[in-house]
Amino acid sequence: MKTHSLKYLTVIVCLLLSGPALVNAKPDKVDGENYPSGRVPQEIKNNNYPRSYFPNTEKLGENEMRIIALGTGMPTQTPNNKSAAFLVELGNGDSFLFDLGSGSTDNLAGIQPDYSKLNKVFASHLHTDHIGDLASLWIAGWIGGRYLPLEVWGPSGATPELGTASMVNHIEKAWAWDVTARSGILPDAGGKLISHEFDFSKTAVIYAKNDVEITAFPAIHNMDSAVSYRLDWNGLSFVFGGDSFPNQWFLKNAKGADVVVHECFFTPEQWMKIAGFPYKQAYWVTSKIHTPPEGFGKIMSAVEPRMAVAYHYWNHRDIEFEIFEKVRKTYDGPLTMANDLTVINVTKDHIEVREATINQEAWAQGTAKEWDNAPRSETKDSLMSDWLIKGGISDFVPPPRPQ
Ligand SMILES: [Zn+2]
Ligand SMILES: [Zn+2]
Repeated sequence: MKTHSLKYLTVIVCLLLSGPALVNAKPDKVDGENYPSGRVPQEIKNNNYPRSYFPNTEKLGENEMRIIALGTGMPTQTPNNKSAAFLVELGNGDSFLFDLGSGSTDNLAGIQPDYSKLNKVFASHLHTDHIGDLASLWIAGWIGGRYLPLEVWGPSGATPELGTASMVNHIEKAWAWDVTARSGILPDAGGKLISHEFDFSKTAVIYAKNDVEITAFPAIHNMDSAVSYRLDWNGLSFVFGGDSFPNQWFLKNAKGADVVVHECFFTPEQWMKIAGFPYKQAYWVTSKIHTPPEGFGKIMSAVEPRMAVAYHYWNHRDIEFEIFEKVRKTYDGPLTMANDLTVINVTKDHIEVREATINQEAWAQGTAKEWDNAPRSETKDSLMSDWLIKGGISDFVPPPRPQ
């Protein structure tokens, strides 16, 4: 009798110990949205935003847009400035990534996103500092909760091999080992990468769904095939310029938009100092294929957004203040000098600019039920040769527990 009671007690203790661990690995659903377990997001009333944005603690209003800068720097990243990426979240539940430069998925992980929603990326052009983390999101997002394909919109090139479809196709091929190794363990559809290549030379709506419209228009960089984007939803607009020299398409399409993001590059003298380029090359980089600070200011003076956002420089003290001063020579309107993890909340009557505070040990929220239940191929017994399996030492590893 005593033995039976002890066994019974042991089972209860084991269940108690194993129960919470399983529960904590799943996000909580709050009003249909996934949040890390234990988080209770608050509604923001009367524009009374906390000074810091703590990810997953605020409900996005149904008429609100939230923009998070995930990367604001250069191809040569610094720990504080990853390469270009902006996340746009809408009150209708949709999320969009505009560019996904190298290193930006580190900051993305920091905000503990619901990866199942991050399946739409819009590339301004195919430099690594704008799309270099595509493979990282493709795989990490798949493990982290995405059960649908990752879709990538991007421009055509002067030749097919310089276009977005070719890049995506080659990324898929390059990571064949990775994806094959994971097949069966993860949902099949999440492992797919789909490209939507469009004609970079046309101003056209390239995405229209769920009352969201995204228009692409040409940009001038150092080769054919760069674009900028405008997102319209529910009377709010977000314009995202990748790399570009000032141009007529930007002035036309960004005119009067709510939040307008445009690159604001270094001056030639700054670039000579920090990159060691001779003047001729420094001028070419900063002022022929990019937009230096005075040019950024002139663009914003012409466009007159509710909020102008400058990025694509390092936020070093000795550089940033000088860039700011030069922008102010040609623009005196609302201005955000974006840093990584700058957060901009937008409604019809208010724009709030803050910084996000993230936990450097931020843990993914875990996969939701939809991910668990998404169709999978059979897990293959082995993708390894028999001789390799035979070299394993099985009794070094505890056996699986009975199911
Ligand atoms: Zn570029
Ligand atoms: Zn760039």
